[in-house]
This record gives sequence, structure tokens and C-alpha cells, in this order.
Amino acid sequence: MQSVLWEEHAVSEAGGATYVTPVPRPEGVSVWFFTRKGGISGPPYDSLNVSTLVGDSPEAVTENLSRIQTVMGERPSAWVRQVAGVSVVEVERPGFAGEGDALVTREGGFALAVAVADCVPVALVGEGLTSIVHSGWRGTLSGISAKAASGMGTEVRAYIGPGIRRCCYEVSQELADRFSGRFGEEVVSGRYLSLPEAIRRNLEEAGVEEIHDLGLCTGCRTDLFYSHRKEGPRTGRNLAAVAFT
Ligand SMILES: [Zn+2]
Repeated sequence: MQSVLWEEHAVSEAGGATYVTPVPRPEGVSVWFFTRKGGISGPPYDSLNVSTLVGDSPEAVTENLSRIQTVMGERPSAWVRQVAGVSVVEVERPGFAGEGDALVTREGGFALAVAVADCVPVALVGEGLTSIVHSGWRGTLSGISAKAASGMGTEVRAYIGPGIRRCCYEVSQELADRFSGRFGEEVVSGRYLSLPEAIRRNLEEAGVEEIHDLGLCTGCRTDLFYSHRKEGPRTGRNLAAVAFT
């Protein structure tokens, strides 16, 4: 299954970082799911890689992050050391915020960011709160999106960004069984797992009624996104970010 709607969601910045964003755009916040396009990293990290932990040149990553910051209105970012856990870190200022896989804030003036390559980024917008979640299979199984959303009031909107989808994500029978046992048969087809569908179920359990899924698959679109599953460990990381407008 080819992923869809790339053209509809694409935003190109002149000479800079390119991202996709929900359509229609969410009110009161900006959501940026950055692609791999518009940076300076060479192969196999071409070109907008944001991670210094994958073998790319630190100078290239610094320039890429600078281009991303320009696109985000020169906002600085807050980030965490992602550990595929269930910790939701509340932050009040930009910069390094410790270990965790979700950030939440009441503050404006800076962005919350996670780095992904197949794992699913989820932006959440609540009552005076915003959050970004890194949801790989471990975090999804542990319910990290619901955990983040549950502290954000009753009117939460969720935006599921580009990640690996059912079409490209064959897992072990044991893992498929764990997911179908936890979220229902619909989240797997044989041994093919839909992380976005599991995340949707998880958010629904937390009472989130407005859930938007961009429908973009990182595995299908390695021209646009990094995919650990399709490209192996020597690939880059995409940045996903949210901020109050
Ligand atoms: Zn796919």
C-alpha cells in the first residue's frame, strides 16, 4: 500500500528544511513533521539528519538543526534522551530535559522535539498544554500516548505523524500476538503490525476523540523519510516538533 497525501501535506521552505503538517492546520499550535529533505548531510544520512548518534558529521547535524530552527520561527527546542520507555517529562524551558519518550509543556516560545526513524511521532494539543510523543513498538505497547494525553485535560487533539505502517512492518508472531491481545485483532494482519492503529486505540482508551493520522509510511517513502527497517542502522533521524503558535 502506497502512503498517500504527501503533496497535500508538504510544506517546502525556500532553501531550507521541508516538513509535512496536518491539513487543516491545527489551531493555536504549529506541528512540524520534518522530512529528510533540505539539509546538508551526505549519504546515507542525506540530508536533514538531526542525530549525532548514527555516524553523521556533527557539523552537518548542527547546520541541519539550524535550518530547522529557522523554519520554526527561530524557536529553540526542548528534547529528551529517548529510551523507549513510558516517561512523560514536563518541561518549562528549552534545552535538554532528561530521559523520557514524551515531552509536555504549558509554555510557549520554544518547541518540543523528538527524533524518529520509523517510530511514530504523535503531537498532542490539550487545554493549555501541548506534547510530542516518540512511540515505537515498546512505547506503543506500554501506552505512552495515552499516558501523555491523560494529563492534558478533556479536550485533547492528536496528530499521528509519519511512521512505519502495516504495509512495511512485519514483526515476530510473538510481538504480533502481544499487540492483538492488547489492542485488538485489527491492529495486525498476520504478522504485519500497524503502530498508528494501535496508537489510535490507545488514545481512544484515554478518551481522546479527535485523532488525525497523516497516513504517511516511512518504509514506503524513503525518498522523504528515514527508515531504520528499510535502510538499516546507517540512516538518519527525522525531527518532529510542536509549539504554541
Ligand atoms: Zn509502507
